[in-house]
Parts: sequence; structure tokens; C-alpha cells
Amino acid sequence: MNDCIFCKIVKGDIPSKKAYEDERVYAFHDIAPAAPVHVLVIPKEHILAGVDEINEQNADIVAYIFTVIPKIAKELGLTNGYRVVSNIGADAGQTVRHIHFHIIGGATLGAMA
Ligand code: 5GP
Ligand code: ZN
Repeated sequence: MNDCIFCKIVKGDIPSKKAYEDERVYAFHDIAPAAPVHVLVIPKEHILAGVDEINEQNADIVAYIFTVIPKIAKELGLTNGYRVVSNIGADAGQTVRHIHFHIIGGATLGAMA
């Protein structure tokens, strides 16, 4: 996936502010934060374009990401709560088709759209 922005971020070709990293997952601060804390959590491998592509064969990485999200949120100091969001497709405004989960917090968040 040579033209994928998030693959370029994983490779270091596009700089990013790291929030967390392990063998399978990378998390970095969103370039256009929607709240005081806004981090994107992605699998390093471009396995899935979005939640719409999750199936029985590839769901393990998604489950793993969801074990990492609470650790990242704790490290970010989000003790009073946070929101996890994944946009899927055009109606949700998904702009990058490399699956990612937004961790948004650091303030009282408004109602969901
Ligand atoms: P989506 O709209 O697909 O759910 O989320 C994509 C997110 O990636 C957006 O919140 C956008 O601000 C963020 N983003 C896009 N390009 C870059 C980039 O080059 N660096 C960082 N850190 N975030 C980016
Ligand atoms: Zn990618």
C-alpha cells in the first residue's frame, strides 16, 4: 500500500508524534485534533481498510488493538473517560482507508453526532 498515508507514518516516511508502539500496533497524535487529546491507533500492517472489512480471519488484530487502547488511554492520563471512534466509509467521513481507532478525550465531549 505505497500510497497509504498511515503506512508511510508507520515506515517513518511521514513524521508523527508517537503515543505508543509495539510489534503490531502504532499510535500517534492526530494532526488535526478534535479534542485536547486525540490519538489514532492503527495496526502496523495494512491488513484492513476499515471496520467494514473485519471478518473471522482477521479479527485478532482488532481484538488486540482493543487490549492496547485502555493502556494508551491510561498513559495519556484519560482517567475521567474518553471516546473511541472508527469512521467507516463516505457517510462517516473516513478519509484514510487503513483501519484506525480514534481515542478522543481530555475534556467533556459533546453528544455524538
Ligand atoms: P478518518 O477521517 O479517516 O476517520 O481519520 C483520519 C484522521 O487522520 C483524521 O483525523 C486526520 O486529521 C488524521 N490525519 C490525516 N493525515 C495525517 C497525518 O499526516 N498525520 C497525522 N498525525 N494525522 C493525520
Ligand atoms: Zn496503510
